[in-house]
Amino acid sequence: MKNSSTDIIIIGAGISGLAAGCYAQMNGYRTQIFEMHNLPGGLCTAWNRKGYIFDGCIHYLFGSGKGQPFYEMWEELGAVQGRQFVHHDELIRVSEPEGKTLIVYSDPKRLEEHLKELSPADSGLITSFCKGIRAFTRFDMSLLQQKPKALMGIGDWWWLSGRLLPFLAPMAKWGRISAEDFAKRFRDPFLRRAIPQMFAWKDIPVMVGMSLLAYMHNQNAGFPVGASLEFARSIEKRYLELGGKVYYNSQVERVLIKNHTAIGVRLYNNEEYRSDRVISACDGRGTIFSLLGGEYVDEEMKMLYDGYFPIHSQLQVSLGVNRDLSGEPHWVTYLLDQPVIIAGEERREISVKNYCFDSSLAPAGKSVLIVMLNTSYDYWQRIYGRKIYNTEQIQESGILIDLLEKFYPGIKADIEYTDVATPMSYERYTGNWQGSSCGWLLTKDTMWMMISGIPKTLPKLDNFYMIGQWVEPGGSVPVVAMSGRNIIQQICHEDDRNFVVTIP
Ligand SMILES: Cc1cc2nc3c(=O)[nH]c(=O)nc-3n(C[C@H](O)[C@H](O)[C@H](O)COP(=O)(O)OP(=O)(O)OC[C@H]3O[C@@H](n4cnc5c(N)ncnc54)[C@H](O)[C@@H]3O)c2cc1C
Repeated sequence: MKNSSTDIIIIGAGISGLAAGCYAQMNGYRTQIFEMHNLPGGLCTAWNRKGYIFDGCIHYLFGSGKGQPFYEMWEELGAVQGRQFVHHDELIRVSEPEGKTLIVYSDPKRLEEHLKELSPADSGLITSFCKGIRAFTRFDMSLLQQKPKALMGIGDWWWLSGRLLPFLAPMAKWGRISAEDFAKRFRDPFLRRAIPQMFAWKDIPVMVGMSLLAYMHNQNAGFPVGASLEFARSIEKRYLELGGKVYYNSQVERVLIKNHTAIGVRLYNNEEYRSDRVISACDGRGTIFSLLGGEYVDEEMKMLYDGYFPIHSQLQVSLGVNRDLSGEPHWVTYLLDQPVIIAGEERREISVKNYCFDSSLAPAGKSVLIVMLNTSYDYWQRIYGRKIYNTEQIQESGILIDLLEKFYPGIKADIEYTDVATPMSYERYTGNWQGSSCGWLLTKDTMWMMISGIPKTLPKLDNFYMIGQWVEPGGSVPVVAMSGRNIIQQICHEDDRNFVVTIP
């Protein structure tokens, strides 16, 4: 038993855990973070291979624009000071082979003109879609997280409703339709095929995609130069400077409980650490059913974990390319004329990201390309640990590279490094259920959870809290950081302390 006499133990040094640690230290609590990996950041990560940095996370970070929603929180966490962001004026391109290209401009005016050029027959629909994007440019998403839901009284809900009032109509209209269903309303066959590829997944509510375009247009959804791990490291630095302690390679096996009160944690190496409170900032399912042995679950929790799904699992093939691709667009989804089978599923499109917009990620004159696909977790899980798992990774990346030849002729000969991350890689390195990248799958049917939230405490268990992407549906780096901020605000309230923040 380690007699650490700590106020708060935090499980996981992902963004939510690091943020909770920073705010706790700002408020005079002594904290320790236990992290199973040897790095901070969790899902917010990148990896260095032979001089190339492959980013595994942030495409767009809300809060990258000074004075805009979420920015102040990043300042408190020391994550934006001196940091450059790349703000793109287009989200993605969707291209037919030797045919049309949809350029998803973030500027609603430009997008409207472009879409109408592509399909004058869909003019009415396009006008209404772009009007929706304009409405969301004024939408402050951080309002939904500004105060811990547990502390919200009737007055706070009234205040929130008042602030949300102007957006209720667009939210009702665009929150209830998926990108895939929206596409079916178009007359133009190319747009019917291209629209579902505009955002991260086909069943995403259109409202979520619109908000992203709106934030991009406001220059508040940029890419942090230096990539996601560098970004996470700046929050780790802030935490350490505030006096926090992180223990890496320290996987928590069990939360210690006495008289239905959390009193510390036990690691896999059998070391035990005591604290007044425990915050779990890691996988929700693992926390409830493994770290707590399934003893503190009510019907609501059971329904959640039995009835809802994590976001689609991901396959990421990262390529170090000995060629300067800076003249090429930064993100294109290519619609294929012939479907191909990859990882057991028929694919009609592939999505390729070109990271030349950040010159720090590849040696001079070289480039990083990343191909991303949704993939079946079960497919990879079945073969994991067997020889075929490695063979399969080589085979699937080979098929993708052959496909790339068509769009970047001669590229095969220029590829000098290939790295494959499957859902098993995400699961192994972060412990997330099915390697989930954002927690729950957000669809028009689960959107309500984003607003109402998921409880951060468990029935009949005292001094224990949960934060991060499994209790903040939709996940994302700013929302989970806010989750860490909110829990400390709640703990300060429990202890009759004023919640304070500082900016370094
Ligand atoms: C490919 C990809 C793209 C993304 N794109 C974006 C984007 O563009 N913008 C955006 O805002 N967000 C994006 N996200 C989502 C975002 O990264 C996550 O929602 C967020 O980082 C989750 O943070 P977290 O702290 O909740 O959890 P995690 O990052 O999962 O952190 C949990 C930590 O706990 C540790 N841990 C787990 N179990 C234990 C244990 N038993 N003991 C000790 N430690 C443990 C893990 O190792 C991990 O470090 C993306 C994610 C991915 C993977």
